[in-house]
Amino acid sequence: MYYSSTRDSSIRLSASQAVLKGLSDDGGLFVPSEFPKLSVGLDELAKLDYKKTAFTVMKGFLEDYTDEELMACIDAAYDEKFDTPEIAPLVKADNAYYLELFHGQTIAFKDMALSILPHLITTAVRKNHSDKEIVILTATSGDTGKAALAGFADVPGTRIIVFYPKDGVSNIQKLQMITQKGANTQVIGVDGNFDDCQSEVKAIFGDAGLRDLMASKGFQFSSANSMNIGRLVPQVAYYVYAYGKLVENGRIQPGDMINVCVPTGNFGNILAAFFAKKMGLPIKTLICASNDNKVLFDFFKCGTYDKNRDFILTDSPSMDILISSNLERLIYLSADCDAEKTASFMKRLSTEGKYDITPGMREFMSDFVGEFANWDESSKKIKDLYDKTGYVIDTHTAVAAAAYDKYVSETKDDTITVIASTASPFKFARSVLKAIDKKYEDMEDFALIDELSKVANVDIPKAIDEIKNADILHKTVCDRAGMKKLVLDNMGL
Ligand SMILES: *Cc1c(COP(=O)(O)O)cnc(C)c1O
Repeated sequence: MYYSSTRDSSIRLSASQAVLKGLSDDGGLFVPSEFPKLSVGLDELAKLDYKKTAFTVMKGFLEDYTDEELMACIDAAYDEKFDTPEIAPLVKADNAYYLELFHGQTIAFKDMALSILPHLITTAVRKNHSDKEIVILTATSGDTGKAALAGFADVPGTRIIVFYPKDGVSNIQKLQMITQKGANTQVIGVDGNFDDCQSEVKAIFGDAGLRDLMASKGFQFSSANSMNIGRLVPQVAYYVYAYGKLVENGRIQPGDMINVCVPTGNFGNILAAFFAKKMGLPIKTLICASNDNKVLFDFFKCGTYDKNRDFILTDSPSMDILISSNLERLIYLSADCDAEKTASFMKRLSTEGKYDITPGMREFMSDFVGEFANWDESSKKIKDLYDKTGYVIDTHTAVAAAAYDKYVSETKDDTITVIASTASPFKFARSVLKAIDKKYEDMEDFALIDELSKVANVDIPKAIDEIKNADILHKTVCDRAGMKKLVLDNMGL
């Protein structure tokens, strides 16, 4: 097995080389040449803890990492940084199972992959005898940034630069990032939206002249975005883990089908579920939930991807995305792994802002269903679920939960469903409490946190306590045109 680029079939890299590079020079994403099959039976999954599940899943994709190397990465990642030894608890509330992916150090699901990615990258540096300093360049819609900063802060041989849309993240998300410590970290607000940040980061990655200059000075870029296969592969593990839990608790028999419903932005999380399915996990339908930026809903409905529309700032900012980068991997797989064809779709996306896929490609994607929920629907879901069960979900998870309800009422499909719960409600306390009761509207951020702790009957996470009195260390702001210069400055070039 090797990794190829979605835009150039002549590329052949080992897993560790793909992890190290992050993004292919041609602008494509790395894809495995084949999908490994689960190496344990579905009945045995029930007996595996999180780390063992992660090992079983990741080993298939990261062939050139030795067992010892991979286990060391897993041990270093899924430790006391998580506030529960279960790592990803599965909680039943009302009509669905919520897979809580927010128990890591920055309380968003990005921790599931970003607590291990630095270890995968530094191991890859060693394995490939690279003598370059790794420069992690990351665009964030809010949660990746902090999770990547936490993962890479003071990791020897690396530096990290994070760009976030300066008015496009929640206050708590912003505070989490601009108070980040670590001599190798830099956080920059961009006068623009997430797509601006992500497109410019991709352009900087693709700048061959810059790449040569950096190489001559001992630097190499890598990515902490879900474009990096080292982000995607660890995410496959929790779907397999959730299945094992359902078997263990007698909710399903080994072999029974489940559905997954995922609040989607860049299409990384739900693509990981699809990878799990390709490995043999019995997943029937993948419900792709969008907020008002419902490009993907329209895409699955009519086969046209069209980003030519207004960018809407919502209460689920980590899903405010019009260019879902990881969809390129699904496009490639659905086009019979035809890199030329994929490249032409992506070219059309960048020139015309849209492309149409063929009936055959749509057929390949028929297990995906697009749904969306606006703020009225998702805030109502937060309140209804709370009133009924006392369980409080965050605004992104609420989009998925509301979309799931719509799916059920349209299809009457009663298959057991796992909803990816992607952030702690504490990260979006203002919007969550606003959904539950208008009386919270005028309270200040940290008073809301105290209130939420009482309402949800959950202790305030450490990640929130830490930022309460922390110094603001990052104040730089630029526009899209200024991003490259700041990257050069960072390296002294
Ligand atoms: C990143 C993020 C998402 C979207 O995930 P993708 O992998 O980009 O589709 C959803 N919810 C939260 C809280 C996130 O941080």
